[in-house]
Order: sequence, then structure tokens, then C-alpha cells
Amino acid sequence: MTIKVLAPDLVARIAAGEVVERPASVVKELVENSLDAEASQISVEAQDGGIDLIKVSDNGAGIPASEVELAFHRYATSKISNLDDLDNISSLGFRGEALPSIATVAEVEISTKASADTIGSYLYLRKGNVVRKENRARSPGTTVTVRRLFRYFPARLKFLKSVNTENSHIANVLSHYALAFPEVRFSLLLDKRLSLHSVGSGDVRDVVNQIYGLELAQKMLRVEGRDTIIKVNGLVSPPALARSNRNYLSFFVNRRWVRSPLLVRAAEEAYHGLLMDGKHPVVVINISLPMEEVDVNVHPTKAEVKFRHEQAAFASVEEAIKEALARMPMATSATTMVMSFPVTSHQQQSTWVVSEKEPTFVAPLSIPGLPILRVMGQLSNTYVIAEGPEGLYLIDQHAAHERILFERVLAQWSRQEVEAQGLLQPITLELSPGEEQIFQTNRENLVQFGFTIEPFGSRSYLLRAVPAVVATTDIVEGIRTLLDNLANKENMIPWEEKIAESLACHSAIRAGQQLSKEEMSELIKQLEQAKQPRTCPHGRPTMIHLSSHQLEKEFGRVS
Ligand code: ADP
Ligand code: MG
Repeated sequence: MTIKVLAPDLVARIAAGEVVERPASVVKELVENSLDAEASQISVEAQDGGIDLIKVSDNGAGIPASEVELAFHRYATSKISNLDDLDNISSLGFRGEALPSIATVAEVEISTKASADTIGSYLYLRKGNVVRKENRARSPGTTVTVRRLFRYFPARLKFLKSVNTENSHIANVLSHYALAFPEVRFSLLLDKRLSLHSVGSGDVRDVVNQIYGLELAQKMLRVEGRDTIIKVNGLVSPPALARSNRNYLSFFVNRRWVRSPLLVRAAEEAYHGLLMDGKHPVVVINISLPMEEVDVNVHPTKAEVKFRHEQAAFASVEEAIKEALARMPMATSATTMVMSFPVTSHQQQSTWVVSEKEPTFVAPLSIPGLPILRVMGQLSNTYVIAEGPEGLYLIDQHAAHERILFERVLAQWSRQEVEAQGLLQPITLELSPGEEQIFQTNRENLVQFGFTIEPFGSRSYLLRAVPAVVATTDIVEGIRTLLDNLANKENMIPWEEKIAESLACHSAIRAGQQLSKEEMSELIKQLEQAKQPRTCPHGRPTMIHLSSHQLEKEFGRVS
């Protein structure tokens, strides 16, 4: 279709008003254009967080020389032309807004050639106006270069975060499009370093390998829904490979990357009872459904969609994931049971002692200190049973140990006396583009906690020393969780607490681990000395306390 300016009545119907919010929005729009042009190869380059330069090159259809200038007019698009098309949008773009919006806030160069043309064209725009136009030879495809973004918009420039943060947004955009379009070869250079490349094999697993690493690529479970209208396909992690935030749930609707609380809920519902509190699955799911079943014209950045039948979409996703989890090999589900055990069973067990009128729990923070306790035994290899002058205590061994380690690590850090342990064999760490950005942002902080990490090629690092408290099993997994925790913006706690919390959680004794009497006594002794022994660093109780008075009441000895 040729590029035409949309009629005013059609413009009035589109959810227009797109603003270029940050460099990653530019990358998103340009990559969407390349995908709409059916490119099989898309290279993205950014410098200085995208402020200095963003360059997107593709080998797609190109723009005919006669239409290049028109492409920069507002509401000029080749993708829809009448009202009916609005109900049937199969392209990622459709409003003809991106190129003009970008050209208003930056200097833009475009070089493009459609295959039918004999020569390509080149255009240079400043403040939205064409200042140079010429013919230039090139291979079919398009390259858009955006320079000095927001230079004349200091207010918007001011709102941008650090280069690393902007880079991580860009990496995030690219990662998602690479997942959605596994048949396309993507590459991303951030400040001249290759941050991501996908092979374009058509297999999502290959992209998962590039972004999330080999283990997830090998172990993620295939999802294939049964619904023939709302088709659900993709990969989900076994519960044992869950992450600590929701950044790893990616949904695509007809391969458009969308943010959808509805779909997130559907996925989490499917994992109900399988994940520990605070853990979230890795999900890469595409839902393909007839165009008329979904409205993509609801949000200026096109990142939200509205399903005509929301319940049906929810149910199809939940069902498809449940089926995938049910097909999981036994070995994996067994470890899952152990992992999900403490929190759920803890909550269930607590119900038998809690009466509505008089709660049996001592409110966690009301009495900070602990009296001297005598260990009596271990229940379900998970809880330490102890008695004290005030009655019976059931102590969650993992939560208690977490509290102890958390306070110890923080105290060492504040005295600048963190103990580190050198590793006999350095461990190689392969980071995803997103993880790498968080790592870069927090590098100094990690050093303060005793990590020694050296660069070792593209997105690879060598881990030479770790904090002394760290259990040396699953270190890599521990570091990933730590980076997730640092990236989590919902959680407003200071970075040092985030690090201490992750280290404590990773290193604490697990639920299900048998402890000797001496080990239990030592654990309780250390807990008695903690500043806040009654909660774990996440704020959950470390113990249930049944007072002598309550015991007497329960047994009808007193009224
Ligand atoms: P939209 O994508 O909503 O149509 P844009 O402003 O992003 O609006 O692009 C305007 C038009 O320019 C598109 O409709 C398309 O015809 C053309 N175009 C933009 N980028 C490319 C590209 N990389 N390859 C081919 N054509 C492109
Ligand atoms: Mg577009």
C-alpha cells in the first residue's frame, strides 16, 4: 500500500497523541516499522543511552523515493486507509505518527530503498523540517538515524534516568521483539558493545537462550493451548526456576508485545500453590486470535489491548499453562513441592490456632526481644519447637536464619568489614542484556559487599570472590535473584538492604533440612540476639508464639 495521509474522521477515531517519552520509545517505534516492512534482519545501535544516537537498520521493503517525504507527515501511513481497516489491524503501526513525532524532538536521517526503485533516497530533517534531500545508492531496506534526542527539550531530557537505565529499557524492548519474532535476526549494540543478538532460527527457545541463558532455554516447558480460536503458544518456566519479580512475564497478542494485568493474573493463577511467596514465573506466550477479537487501538503507545472476550482469553491462558505444568517431568515437580512447601503449609497450619476473637499470633513487632528459649525438637524438618518462660514457640528455621544473616551482613557492611571468600575456581556468569545493565548500575555496591567480578567477553563475567556468608551452591542463581531484587522498583527499600536480603535468603538453611539439636540451639541462640527476631527481612513472621495463658484457655483450664 502507498503512504497516504489519513482522513480527519479516521484520525479522530485513533487513540492518537503519541509522545516520545524516552529513547526506548524511539527504538520501539523504529523496530516496529522494520517488522511491518517484513525485514528478516534488524540491527539497532545506541550511544549514550540513546541520547547521542539511535540507529535502526533493516533489510525490509523500504520506502519508495516518491513517498519518503510524506512518511514524515503526521497521520501519513501505508498501513490503514479507511475506517474498516481499524477493526482489522494486522500491522504493528497504523497511525502514521511515529516518524513525525521523532523528527520533532531530534535530528533524523533516513536512507531507504524500495526494491522496485533503481536508486535509494536520503533525507535529513531538523526540528521536523527537511533540510537535505538527495538520491543515494544502497541495498533494499531502511536505515533511520536519530541524533541528539530532546536537545531542544531540556524538560524532557531532565526526566531521563542514567545511561544504564535508558540502555536497560532499550535492551528490554529489543529482547521482547526478539522473543516475539524468533525468525528475525536482531542485533543490539550499546555503546559499541554487542548486547544482544538473535540467530533468527524461528525457534523461540534459541531466543530464550540468548536472553535468559541456557538453563531456562533447556528447561522451559512448551505451552500449546487447545482452544482453536484463542491460540495460546509459548514457553513457561518450571516452578523451580521462578524469579523474584514480574519482569519475566512476556505476553504477545498477535505478536504485539502487550502489558496486560489480565494475562499476568491468568498465568499466576496457573502456578497457584506451586511457587513460594514473592516468586514469579518466566513466561513467554503469544496469543493469536482473529483480528476482530481484539482492539489494539486503545492506548497511544499501543502497549495495551482489549479483548472482546476477556474471560475466554483469561481461561485459555490459564488452562494452557496448567496443562504444560501438569505434563512436567516428575523430577522437577518433586523439587517444586519442597520449594513451595514452607509458605503454604505455614499458612495452613497457622489457621488451626488462630481464633477470630483472640489472635494467637503475637503481633510480629510488638515485642522486639526474645527470651532465652529451650529447643525441644524439629517439626517437619522445617520448624524448630522451643519453649520459654512465656509458652511455646514454633520457629520457621529458614525465616529465622534469614533474619540472623540479614542483620549480620548489614552490620558488617556498615562497619565496612564485609568478609569475602575467594573462589578456588572462578565461576562464569552469563548475564542477559537487562541483567547486565542492572549489574553495571550496581557494580560498586556489589564490591562493597565482597563480590569480585571481572568482565570476561560479551555479557560474560568471572566471579572470583563472594561475600563470606554466601553458600557456595547455586551462586549463579543467587546472583540472578539478587539482580532481580535490585531491579525491582515496586520495592522501595534501600539497595544495601536489598543486597543483604538476597544474600540472606540465598544462604539461609532451607525448609526440609534436618537439623541436629546443637544446630537448632545455635540457631535459636543467634536469633535471641537479633534486633528484630520476630520477622524475616521480608516482613513475614519467623515464629508462632502460643502463650501459656492461651494454652490453658485452649485446654479449658481457665475460662
Ligand atoms: P505507521 O507505522 O503508523 O504507519 P510511521 O510514522 O511509523 O507510521 O511510519 C510512516 C510510514 O513510513 C509507514 O506507514 C511506512 O509506510 C513507512 N515506513 C516507516 N519506516 C519504514 C521502514 N523501516 N521500512 C519501510 N517503510 C517504512
Ligand atoms: Mg510506525
